[in-house]
Amino acid sequence: MISRRKFLAATSLTGASIVTGNKSFSNFVEQSTILNSPIVISTWNFGIAANAAAWEILKNKGRALDAVEKGVHVPEADPTNSSVGYGGLPDRDGRVTLDACIMDDLGNCGSVAALEHIIHPISVARLVMEKTPHVMLVGSGALQFALEQGFKKENLLTPSSEKAWKQWLKNAKYQPEINVENRLFSPTKLPGNQYNHDTIGMLAMDAAGNLSGACTTSGMAYKMHGRVGDSPIIGAGLYVENEVGGATSTGVGEEVIRNVGSFLVVELMRQGYPPEEACKEAVMRIIRKKPNTAKEIQVGFLALNKKGQYGAYAIQRGFSYAVCDGNNQKLMVKAKSYS
Ligand code: ASP
Repeated sequence: MISRRKFLAATSLTGASIVTGNKSFSNFVEQSTILNSPIVISTWNFGIAANAAAWEILKNKGRALDAVEKGVHVPEADPTNSSVGYGGLPDRDGRVTLDACIMDDLGNCGSVAALEHIIHPISVARLVMEKTPHVMLVGSGALQFALEQGFKKENLLTPSSEKAWKQWLKNAKYQPEINVENRLFSPTKLPGNQYNHDTIGMLAMDAAGNLSGACTTSGMAYKMHGRVGDSPIIGAGLYVENEVGGATSTGVGEEVIRNVGSFLVVELMRQGYPPEEACKEAVMRIIRKKPNTAKEIQVGFLALNKKGQYGAYAIQRGFSYAVCDGNNQKLMVKAKSYS
């Protein structure tokens, strides 16, 4: 049942006409949680289990930064998840290379890209943030740092991901291929309709009202060796501005990088756009610049603002996200989309 405070938060936005710059949001109904209470949201259905781990920290008044790190550990360690961490699909040379970044309420951030052999790239990204003067480490340098910090070197290529890659090699002509979750086709169609991409992007607000975010992925399956997507790029795959809100993305990273997508969503929220409208405008920038490309790809944005209101928008149907707060632990929401 909707609480009175939640109802008031929603209706106050519905009734009002929010005018910002040249845009007015007169008919806008925002998804909203109880103001100033903890909340965690994350991309795709694997976000449910990740949110549950994050909630353990948030419900005990822990820090949002710790919550997002622990939350995304769940899909990172899950061998059945073929697009994040251990069990992620490899690049076209059969190597599992991981991208991740994390950002806190103070504007600190850390990132690793094309990192091999480490199950929890998000924790390496956090240590880049906390223990180095840098923001981003890549490839062998990121691995060297991880090993120095005590992380264990592991084989991340599971038998099922190896089998899928070998199957792909038979027909794919060594060409990386982009697909969309509602239009899977050969040769990237995987057993059980697994996707050949998807990222966990997670945003949380803690009991103190502070925001943090994390984003981690094995990236686009069968990509060129060395390819880095949007997920570890601060401002593309993730951005958090504690006074305003946070945003994260999933889908074809190249288009998100070209439009600095998550930074754009946060800046639009700063101008007064509600989260869903901000995500929609970021999607529309991609579509307007490259209408033909946009027909063939998926990009989705997810956003949380300082009031605990959230929203998402995608190019294609099929993007969903998980929400966990004091009212509801396992809410799945279908994002609106352009097509
Ligand atoms: N954004 C990821 C990448 O481009 C993939 C995804 O989320 O679908 O690597």
